[in-house]
Amino acid sequence: MEIKKKDIRALTKEQLRVFFVKEGDKAFRGNQVYEWLWQKAAYSFEDMTNISKETRQMLEDNFVINHIRVDTMQRSNDGTIKNAVRLHDGLIVESVLIPTSTRTTACVSSQVGCSLDCKFCATSRLKRMRNLNPDEIYDQVVAIDNESRLYHNRPLSNIVFMGMGEPLMNYNNVIKAIDKITSKEGLGMSPKRITVSTSGVPKMIKKMADDEVKFNLAVSLHSAVDEVRTSIMPFNETFPLQDLRESLEYWYTKTQRKISYEYVVWKGINDTQNDIDAFVKFCKYVPCKVNIIEYNPIDDGEFQQASNEALENYIRTLEQNRIVVNVRRSRGKDIDAACGQLANKT
Ligand code: SF4
Repeated sequence: MEIKKKDIRALTKEQLRVFFVKEGDKAFRGNQVYEWLWQKAAYSFEDMTNISKETRQMLEDNFVINHIRVDTMQRSNDGTIKNAVRLHDGLIVESVLIPTSTRTTACVSSQVGCSLDCKFCATSRLKRMRNLNPDEIYDQVVAIDNESRLYHNRPLSNIVFMGMGEPLMNYNNVIKAIDKITSKEGLGMSPKRITVSTSGVPKMIKKMADDEVKFNLAVSLHSAVDEVRTSIMPFNETFPLQDLRESLEYWYTKTQRKISYEYVVWKGINDTQNDIDAFVKFCKYVPCKVNIIEYNPIDDGEFQQASNEALENYIRTLEQNRIVVNVRRSRGKDIDAACGQLANKT
């Protein structure tokens, strides 16, 4: 009978130390193996050259290293890179590197597919198959950090959880991945450079506040009118704007940290004065800043970017109300790497 081997990267450093002691070895061996797994990103036990051959064989007999593999890497004319990442069970997710003159940002996935059904999003067409493990999230970041160094001569500076999936529906694994990314034994990144972007799950926003997380929160809002939001993000029926508002007020009271609202303006959907007024009103509930994002049509063309006039009207009204607003031009459109376009097309 074949023995099912365990994923060694699911073990904490302490668990590895205990394992080696039980095997009659030194606890220190656990530190060495942990370093190979996380700081040196070893793909096989063979790579662990300061570990004896017998010990490597013993590890091989008991464990596997479920590393991701970058199946295909596409580079856009604007420097954006999209990775199609193969997981140990053959499923694929995508992650993106977005370079600007001042930063390189990794946009990573948290689930294979998505259980939510945002009408404008290509990922929503891939039903949720499973959550990503913490190491699968971490590996996407390491792969992008390596590409950033190789192609842009600088390390990764920021991370956004805006790829495939709703991160708050895989909360525990996302938190474990962020712990690893920010720890000295991982990448040592500041949590201030990490943003978790949610479509707005009120209960989980409150939990993050209770957990005193140190990273930033972004909400894909797209409308502050319940009927409109429900028509494009159907789960808004279950979690209406009033609940979202309460959870954001709770977040701010506990963390004193501003929220970012991600907002796309579509023709004929949320481009009226009534939509703008409702959004400005919502922005006043909690200190915030706004990112207006250029939309990238997905195949069926049901959603189209609003006119420049409508966009300018949004920007002007927000600024008149002293709300900080940035306009995010789309990146990586030619390789389907832009916001809302991740759908495993490669
Ligand atoms: S926008 Fe985000 S939450 Fe909505 S379907 Fe797409 S991946 Fe899921």
